[in-house]
Amino acid sequence: MQHNWWEKFISLESSESVDIKRKKLVLNTCSYIGGSIVLFFALQTVYAEQPLLKLSLLVSALFLYGNVILSYWHKHMQLAITACGYGIIPLVFAIVYTGGYQNSGLYWTYPFAITTFVFFGYFRGLLINIFILSVIVLMLMNPDKIIADYRPEETSRFLASYMVNILFCLINEYFRSRSHAELAEINFDKQRQANSDPLTLLPNRRFVDTVFLANVYKEREDYFPMMLLILDIDHFKKINDNYGHDIGDKVLQHIANVMKDHTRETDVVARTGGEEFLIIFPKTDFQLGITIADKLRKIIAESSYSYQNIEIVMTVSLGCVCVNNSQEIAHGLKRADELLYQAKRNGRNRIESQLM
Ligand code: GH3
Ligand code: MG
Ligand code: MG
Repeated sequence: MQHNWWEKFISLESSESVDIKRKKLVLNTCSYIGGSIVLFFALQTVYAEQPLLKLSLLVSALFLYGNVILSYWHKHMQLAITACGYGIIPLVFAIVYTGGYQNSGLYWTYPFAITTFVFFGYFRGLLINIFILSVIVLMLMNPDKIIADYRPEETSRFLASYMVNILFCLINEYFRSRSHAELAEINFDKQRQANSDPLTLLPNRRFVDTVFLANVYKEREDYFPMMLLILDIDHFKKINDNYGHDIGDKVLQHIANVMKDHTRETDVVARTGGEEFLIIFPKTDFQLGITIADKLRKIIAESSYSYQNIEIVMTVSLGCVCVNNSQEIAHGLKRADELLYQAKRNGRNRIESQLM
């Protein structure tokens, strides 16, 4: 599905964060509970003659704890999840190879299948699980090459049940991710509808106030100096009166397209009222801002909407202010509105501007 540029702002929200929370919870469980179990086994094998098992258990416990603790510090959750996902693979092999404590190793391999699916999704999770299973099969088929001493009937039953476990985990993860994607799309569509105007498909006032400006307040340095323009079509009522409301709608769509075509990807062009628009140029100083605003005014005046051999020409008036920080935005918008009415009073088809 084609998404508009401004929708990246709303797509950042909610649905993805639920999935990250799920992974985080599994990462924490895997790291703290798994790490403690591994450490417990490491302590139990203190007197056993299995240096490889002892070492791998200790290293794994330290790795699991270290990785999750470091993630609080670097805050790169995906990195910690990937590290944990790959880091536990040698642990499975070590457990199966050595047999763990009193040959109980095979029982401890089951949780790794579901963990791998959670961390890597169904496709990569399946590939990694097939790899893990292949190495385990190889070890179990060569009992004389491994330290553990499993009974033959135990290994065959283990392999059968382990494969069933992988299959169920795969089915579960596949349908979970599909329903998650569908719900995310529904949620996204609802947000898109709530934040846009159905006629022009431009973002609406709600988007500007609750999504865009909220983002500006959070990441201030990326947006200032910022030019705020309030644009209103001149004598729009006459277009409705002369040609009908439907043609009035087409003219609104036409002007919306002209504005979108002549502004940057990062500029906001929102429909905030009937024939009123709010345009925001982030990272644009006053001089450049009024130059672009006046260019936009000229382009609209020179462009016309053609309808049954009739050329409908329209002009716009603009109130423009340049703000330097987020505290000035509310006052800046009010001032831009006053300047717009000044432009109307001064004859229309013009801009009035102020540096705040
Ligand atoms: P001014 O130059 O002073 O702005 O005059 P104006 O006629 O543009 O302003 P006025 O506020 O008198 O009229 C605005 C008109 O815009 C009235 C309203 O019917 C029309 N309008 C508002 N929303 C829509 C819409 O979605 N479609 C159409 N076709 N017309 C609309
Ligand atoms: Mg008007
Ligand atoms: Mg108006």
